[in-house]
Amino acid sequence: MAATLLDGAAIAEHVYSRVKQRVHDLRSRGVQPGLAAVLIGDNPASKVYIKNKIRACSEAGVHSEVHRLGVDRTEPEVLALLGRLNGDPRVHGVLVQLPLPPHLNAERVLQSISAAKDVDGFNWRNLGAMVAGHTLFAPCTPLGVITMLDYARVPIEGCNAVVIGRSMIVGKPLALMLIARGASVSVCHSKTHDLRRYTSAADVLVVAVGRPGLVDGAMIKPGAVVIDVGINRLPDGRLVGDVEFASASSVASLITPVPGGVGRMTVAMLIANTVTAAERSPTGD
Ligand code: NDP
Repeated sequence: MAATLLDGAAIAEHVYSRVKQRVHDLRSRGVQPGLAAVLIGDNPASKVYIKNKIRACSEAGVHSEVHRLGVDRTEPEVLALLGRLNGDPRVHGVLVQLPLPPHLNAERVLQSISAAKDVDGFNWRNLGAMVAGHTLFAPCTPLGVITMLDYARVPIEGCNAVVIGRSMIVGKPLALMLIARGASVSVCHSKTHDLRRYTSAADVLVVAVGRPGLVDGAMIKPGAVVIDVGINRLPDGRLVGDVEFASASSVASLITPVPGGVGRMTVAMLIANTVTAAERSPTGD
């Protein structure tokens, strides 16, 4: 039996239609939501990501501005810019596109974004608040995954969920969010022995590693929901996820494609978080 496709583009459209209504409501109260993106250096993939985010802002009616800094900018210069954006009332959300040039300390840079404007959800205050169950901004990719599961009415409470990958931006926060929803969660990573023992027991399997073909159909429980977060560029130029789509989709009940899956949701959640920041701002009340 072939799995049903969890179409990120279609679900993202649904998210955008609600976001546009919220932007309309804010504008009618005289508030124009705004996102500032900081792009340092000339990484080609980062330029594409920024372009997609700016286009999404424009389609949703969110003001956006890109601050492009040369690769040789010093950390004090970057922190000074972030300080200005933190204090700018027209800017409700601030993001710094990763990766950063090696001479910049990503932790210090990300931690200098004010928690109230941290629409990527990478600030430790936001991550810590999540642990305590008081989420201010959830990181966009995990939030996109949860939104997709909700949209498809996947029962999370009581399920066995397995997350492969334990990064601060995807695996760990997603595990927290699934725990908060009542799932029993296993988190696997590069040190996990016998990955298949975990994956084959998963009702919901999320793979966020960055290795094409890490998971195939033989590792998946029949009827499982499979969310492929991975994005990998093959030597022939094709984009693929971490899950071997052909074999996995003959075993799973629901599966996300790559491209057209979680990636579309990540940007949609960034815009939604920016609108949330504007609603929370003193003028947005
Ligand atoms: P990281 O490199 O930060 O983390 C990768 C994780 O995978 C680590 O926890 C690592 O384990 C684990 N891992 C590595 N090899 C294995 C293995 N053989 N078996 C099991 N686990 C393994 O990556 P990110 O979390 O930032 O991103 C993961 C993937 O998701 C990438 O492909 C990235 O491009 C994609 N991505 C997609 C997004 C989207 O919008 N769709 C957004 C963000 C990321 P350990 O901790 O032990 O090293």
